[in-house]
Amino acid sequence: MRRLPIAVLGAALALAGPSWTVGRGEGHAQVQEIEGPLAGRVVVLDPGHQLGNHNFPKQINRPVPAGGFRKPCNTTGTATNAGYPEATLTWQVTNLVRRRLEALGATVVMTRDSNSEREWGPCVDERGRAGNRRPADLKVSIHGDGSYAAGAHGFHVIYRYAGSRSLATTVRARLRRASFPVANYIAGGDGLDRRSDLATLNLSRIPTVLVELGNMRSARDARVMTSRPGRIRYADALVAAIRASLR
Ligand code: ZN
Repeated sequence: MRRLPIAVLGAALALAGPSWTVGRGEGHAQVQEIEGPLAGRVVVLDPGHQLGNHNFPKQINRPVPAGGFRKPCNTTGTATNAGYPEATLTWQVTNLVRRRLEALGATVVMTRDSNSEREWGPCVDERGRAGNRRPADLKVSIHGDGSYAAGAHGFHVIYRYAGSRSLATTVRARLRRASFPVANYIAGGDGLDRRSDLATLNLSRIPTVLVELGNMRSARDARVMTSRPGRIRYADALVAAIRASLR
């Protein structure tokens, strides 16, 4: 997102012609280029957890609506055995995805805008509702799993509603094509899991998936997650899936 002071906005618009649109920011006018294959599309990205959640037990344990029942606002998330936190993995991969989507012309809505030890949340109900009001085209919630089962590794894609199944199978296909193995520890064994206990999925009224990129407790998966080339491979696969889903 390019931000310009209001004073230069008119000049920028005059120069840019009809391929520019104007939105409102906090004290700034925002000028956003809308060229590109994803121009006009809106994607919600949800980087799971927040780095500071463990510092705010009262706030993150508060029960919030989760879709017919209540759940804690948020959880701390998991980590690799060497201590690389899930919140940081999800933040780094999500930002790689965001930058690629924006370069393709998409508008990206993030559910959090920091990865900080001094911050917590947002709660899962807010993550679930993101993109509902002025409906976004789709939402991808990005996580890493934390299974201690021996040898457990690989990714899986979780969805709730039938309207999200196509997005789920597309994300699975693109991760497979990028040589990521399907999880070997999830019932069904096909890399897809349908669940009704997650507020992020339950409260969403747009096509939404939650992807567990791998098992952070697996040395094999952790090697990929803790390397920048590995995270870029995840991001490229997710971007390919989002592009294919928006055709
Ligand atoms: Zn998670």
